[in-house]
Amino acid sequence: MSRTHNSEDLFARASAVVPGGVNSPVRAFGAVGGTPRFMASGQGPYITDVDGNRYVDLVCSWGPMILGHRHPAVVEAVSQAVAHGFSYGTATPGEVELAEEIVGRVAPVEKVRLVSSGTEATMSAVRLARGFTGRSKVIKFAGCYHGHVDALLASAGSGVVTFGLPDTPGVTGASAADTIVLPYNDVKAVEEAFAAAEIACVITEACPANMGIVPPLDGFNTRLRELCTANGALLIVDEVLTGFRVSPSGWYGLDPVEADLMTFGKVMGGGLPAAAFGGRAEVMAHLAPEGPVYQAGTLSGNPLACAAGLTTLRTLDAQAYAKVDVAAAVVADAATEALSAAGVPHRLQTAGNLFSIFFTDRQVTDFADAQTQSTAAYKAFFHAMLDQGVYLPPSAYEAWFLSSAHDDEALERVAGALPGAAKAAAAVL
Ligand SMILES: *Cc1c(COP(=O)(O)O)cnc(C)c1O
Repeated sequence: MSRTHNSEDLFARASAVVPGGVNSPVRAFGAVGGTPRFMASGQGPYITDVDGNRYVDLVCSWGPMILGHRHPAVVEAVSQAVAHGFSYGTATPGEVELAEEIVGRVAPVEKVRLVSSGTEATMSAVRLARGFTGRSKVIKFAGCYHGHVDALLASAGSGVVTFGLPDTPGVTGASAADTIVLPYNDVKAVEEAFAAAEIACVITEACPANMGIVPPLDGFNTRLRELCTANGALLIVDEVLTGFRVSPSGWYGLDPVEADLMTFGKVMGGGLPAAAFGGRAEVMAHLAPEGPVYQAGTLSGNPLACAAGLTTLRTLDAQAYAKVDVAAAVVADAATEALSAAGVPHRLQTAGNLFSIFFTDRQVTDFADAQTQSTAAYKAFFHAMLDQGVYLPPSAYEAWFLSSAHDDEALERVAGALPGAAKAAAAVL
């Protein structure tokens, strides 16, 4: 067992002044139990906690650290930006370069607006879609996460067409009532929803990765595109997680469906707060100050965040992507091998270099399938890995993230920990 005294002390102090002791719920280890680790530093594929335990990091800040921690080029770029000034509340050159980089990579994005979080990006994209179409209703899919936007937190209910009920207190019935929540990968449900109501937009994760990895079935995104076009609705493809990770142009590079609006975050900020939404120039022209749909941000396009994001994107050459791809394949293969050897029912699902392992033996095509997995098995697996110095996502419903810094030594450490963790999972089944 690792020492955790300092994390325990900090968690107790944090719990006195911060709700649940954390600033984002998953960090509290609620799904796996135990003391959340407070991190002190990171280097390449490793993170070190306040008790001096070093872990191979398979979370990578939920995606942004695709080059590993403290990549020298990013450290240099941010240091130079720091030396100039932190924030002016004016336009700056870095914003132009970052916007050009995004527009240059993702064909459907002709114009882009920078914001500070993925939540802001999806919230603004939905507002713009409603402003552009003059309609209210939004279709989203159960299990797709788009940040904590009120209208997009509704996900409860089953049945063919479920008019959303808020699934968190504080979201009004009125704001959830404009959200239609459908099962993922269910074309018929989408067709029926379009027949029943005037739709402003469909928002979908390019490839869902926030209920574990649940790739779109062949043609699903294309069918969404067709239905939106036929009904005068906009298609919003959320690439906050997949964007610039699974390929230089994100999921779009693997499954080129033309969205009207797209959202980005995570990798494009390189570990600092930066996100974006963009799309067809005709639609983006409705945004203030060019058009009437209001959207703004004190720190939008922050110079430090732009420096980190731009340098991360520019450093991500073909070789870097190839390293991420190989590292992900090595870990995914080793994990399935260890789980099979231990007789643990599981299902590996991949989306380019993103993957997750469901502790169930059935194919997962929607959120209901995902919920058939054994979270108890994952919990045992997670803690056995943690004790051996591998930091996995503290929830069974998350993707595993690799970086170009995950070298042989780090990958061997993961491989060495897997058989024991698989046995720990087998023991609770
Ligand atoms: C992380 C994520 C968001 C929210 O981004 P934040 O920066 O956490 O607000 C939105 N959509 C998807 C697909 C995400 O993975």
